[in-house]
Amino acid sequence: MTPDLLEEGARRAEAHALKVEHGKTESGGRAAGFSRLATPGEVDVTHGRILYLEDVSVSFDGFKAINKLSLDIAPGELRCIIGPNGAGKTTMMDIITGKTRPDEGRVFFGSTIDLLRYTEPEIAQLGIGRKFQKPTVFEQLTVFENLELALKTNKAVTASMLFRLDSTQSDRLLEVLHTIHLVGNASAQAGTLSHGQKQWLEIGMLLMQDPKLLLLDEPVAGMTDEETERTAELFLSLKGKHSLMVVEHDMSFINTISDIVTVLCDGSVLAQGTLAQVQADERVIEVYLGR
Ligand code: ADP
Ligand code: MG
Repeated sequence: MTPDLLEEGARRAEAHALKVEHGKTESGGRAAGFSRLATPGEVDVTHGRILYLEDVSVSFDGFKAINKLSLDIAPGELRCIIGPNGAGKTTMMDIITGKTRPDEGRVFFGSTIDLLRYTEPEIAQLGIGRKFQKPTVFEQLTVFENLELALKTNKAVTASMLFRLDSTQSDRLLEVLHTIHLVGNASAQAGTLSHGQKQWLEIGMLLMQDPKLLLLDEPVAGMTDEETERTAELFLSLKGKHSLMVVEHDMSFINTISDIVTVLCDGSVLAQGTLAQVQADERVIEVYLGR
């Protein structure tokens, strides 16, 4: 048996175990899909989509948090998501990253990877990075050490500290330090950074894994105006190299970074277009922007 087949076998056994455990299929209740199992590093974007959601729904105690949600994102795109509290924005990210299993629908990474067949850590391995609202950096470690650790997220902290970077990894670390504007703070303890700098460091930790898709939930909440401006520059510099999905309420920030804005409401897409277009939409004004 080839290693590929062995790996596939292991995955299938795991998927089967999951199915037994939860009493449903790994694809969230549907019959097993046609997609093949993917290896990290390959995402088929020949159809022009890095992420594809179709008719996704999930209920919590009978309440439909996500309701027939369909959405797709192009490779290299920076998509902004806005919408009132409770619209389902965070839940959508939970579904994409495998934290929450939808009751129905399809969620694809590229055109061949059925994300509903993977666990949360596997999805991260496939190249989807997620930034939660609160920064979660190791306060006692330096900026450099935090970035170094990000290369070895699956190892124990102590074991990781003993591992040495090869030259490609050192180059990558330096590049990331530049990208997140923390070159001058490399040897500073993360705990001494400002809130904004901690957020950048965490984004840097995600970048160390070179994710194809980055999901960012309210990244500028609590930042100063200057930090917000810098974050806008950072995101614009990431666009193209990575695909980004950014949930935010800060309209001037959205205005600076956005191409297409998707408005989520009651668990589905209410409107989509440029910020000017969605801001002029009566339904959007009604539910979100106010009069
Ligand atoms: P948003 O991020 O747009 O503010 P959320 O995705 O956090 O919205 O929440 C959407 C709705 O789903 C809310 O009404 C919320 O209370 C509910 N919800 C989210 N996660 C859960 C959960 N794990 N259990 C029960 N209800 C949830
Ligand atoms: Mg939220």
